[in-house]
Amino acid sequence: MSRSNGKSPLGGMILFGLVITGVLFVYFSTMFERDEPIINVKSNGYWNLKEPLKISIADKSGIKSYKVTLKTSSEAIALQNEQFITPENEVSLVIKPPRTAYSMKDKTMSVVIEAVDASKWNFLNGNVALKEFKFNIDKKRPHLNIVSNSYKISKGGSALVIFKADDENLQDIYIELSNDKKFKVQPFYKEGFYIALIAWPIIDKSFKASVVARDYAGNIAKSYIPLYLKQKNYKVSSIRLSDRFLKGKIADLAYEYVETQGVEDPIEQFKLINEDVRAKNERLIHDITSKLSDEMISDFKVDKMYPLKNAKVVARFGDHRKYFYKGKKISESYHLGLDLASNAMANIKPQNSGEVVFADYNGIYGNMPIIDHGLGLYTLYGHCSSIKVNSGEHFNAKEIVANTGLTGYAMGDHLHFGVLVQGVEVRPQEWMDREWIKLNISNVIKSAKKIIDRD
Ligand SMILES: [Zn+2]
Repeated sequence: MSRSNGKSPLGGMILFGLVITGVLFVYFSTMFERDEPIINVKSNGYWNLKEPLKISIADKSGIKSYKVTLKTSSEAIALQNEQFITPENEVSLVIKPPRTAYSMKDKTMSVVIEAVDASKWNFLNGNVALKEFKFNIDKKRPHLNIVSNSYKISKGGSALVIFKADDENLQDIYIELSNDKKFKVQPFYKEGFYIALIAWPIIDKSFKASVVARDYAGNIAKSYIPLYLKQKNYKVSSIRLSDRFLKGKIADLAYEYVETQGVEDPIEQFKLINEDVRAKNERLIHDITSKLSDEMISDFKVDKMYPLKNAKVVARFGDHRKYFYKGKKISESYHLGLDLASNAMANIKPQNSGEVVFADYNGIYGNMPIIDHGLGLYTLYGHCSSIKVNSGEHFNAKEIVANTGLTGYAMGDHLHFGVLVQGVEVRPQEWMDREWIKLNISNVIKSAKKIIDRD
């Protein structure tokens, strides 16, 4: 027996180990990875053959080449291909559709993408990914047609619009103001028709509203709503803050709010209440009153509003209030409701039914129920001494919603009556005028139905 004789089991083991290591290296190294490139196309399955296609290809070992082809019913059109000397881990492509495809009548087309990676796997050929993406071709813009609308809109006021929108793949439809505010629209009367109340926010100098419709393929249509604009001058008043007021009502409120905790200076307290607390309270109001149902309605009726009997107007909607202390301007705000006063703790009886969507305390607005009357129209009752309804309840017209009071930022017993259209405070006076309602709401609906029935 000799050790040097024959094959040593140790040498065999080393060789075997080397082979295993080599296999493991190939198996786990990026160089030999076996994952095919990942191909993604940014798409919802619709294409208007105008928008460029956004494609991304990613691979661990890098992309060696790719090829993008458009397959129509009659031909295959090469869109783009590329070979990389230095493989890239990620390739982002923006590919324009060919002009020739735009004139085709195909309802669907496919985009075929082939990508090869730089892996040494597959006998150095790399991994190949081949993907086909099918698109519904939609080159047509939605068709819009304004059926009927209020003749005019006043600064701070409301208007009604009814229109038709036609598209096979309608995705989104809304009304847009020049200040970017969007109003939702509600299906109306028959399929393809929509209705919306819109508003000219009091802080906007000018007003322009358009219906906008977009389909899934990205085609957009815009139609301007022809409204006669009526400017309105709102009162600007300078109010001198007295020490009595600051040390009384303001000190009381400051004690209550989170924003004014630890703040001792009465002027600072007033500023915080008039600006920060107000903004927070109004944000809540706007949130609650921005909702609109998407159920189809066949009519919308509203009675002249007058929530407080034998009431005197004590402050108007839209007053721009500038506050001064010792000759210096401290703060300013807009009064976004109509203040009505009669007896103390008088019954508040709204004339229109609806759903109670809020019945709670809201900062400077005090106890404040809000009623949703449908079509984005809401009424709000501020500074109440007590609320007689609960959130979530149905409200029947002419019942008592609350009693007037002076909760929140109020000096005497009164009702702060607010009317909102999809989160925008509007002139309550319009909704308190039977003639205005008839001209701007009822008649617009009536004439729209006549036109729709003929359609
Ligand atoms: Zn008020």
